[in-house]
Amino acid sequence: MTMSRIFIATSNPGKIRDFAAAAGPYAIEIATLANFSSLPIVVEDGLTFEANARKKAEAYSKYSPGKLVLADDSGLEVEALGGAPGVHSARYAADEPHAAEANTDDEANNAKLIREIRRVPLEKRTGRFVCWIAVARDGKTLGVFEGHAEGTILDRPQGSSGFGYDPFFYSPAIGKTFAELPAEEKAKYSHRGAAFRAFLEWYRTRLVSQ
Ligand code: IMP
Repeated sequence: MTMSRIFIATSNPGKIRDFAAAAGPYAIEIATLANFSSLPIVVEDGLTFEANARKKAEAYSKYSPGKLVLADDSGLEVEALGGAPGVHSARYAADEPHAAEANTDDEANNAKLIREIRRVPLEKRTGRFVCWIAVARDGKTLGVFEGHAEGTILDRPQGSSGFGYDPFFYSPAIGKTFAELPAEEKAKYSHRGAAFRAFLEWYRTRLVSQ
């Protein structure tokens, strides 16, 4: 069986691990774009995950002519916080998350989430992880795919795997937080795993029809 290689436009090691685990059961190798860290940063100023995923995929695919390039935009939406941190998940701890250009670190983002959620009773701490993946080639988006995962926000961390908000995101369906799951297991339940499998459906039909 020949191995397909899919390029992902991210430098986030947590996302790369999640994608590699989601691709594990299939004949697909996940690779980051060559020289990704030296490419100009794409400002994520879209109002939706979809808009940001498209923007990143389109911009970064221009640096790898002829190749399919995936970009993921994702985050946590907490109902009691009006959907925050939402599209600003990566820079939630900034004074003005909507205006911040640089990401804030996971620890600071988690600390802010916990400060905000403390006043909310446990039964109202529902939220979801959302992931949009855009696939582009030569600056043009060819498809977008969405995945989500429902959970409850804890105010104490559990587990040390994963990244970002994982230690605080408890999945009632699994009885664990996402940080208590190995990457392969997280991929079965996560927003990123679901979006990636939707992408794979598209990719397979496309390969067949070429
Ligand atoms: P962006 O998609 O690069 O804008 O950043 C997404 C942000 O959302 C990350 O920095 C995390 O804070 C959060 N996030 C997205 N997916 C996950 C996940 O699978 N686990 C934990 N946090 C996540």
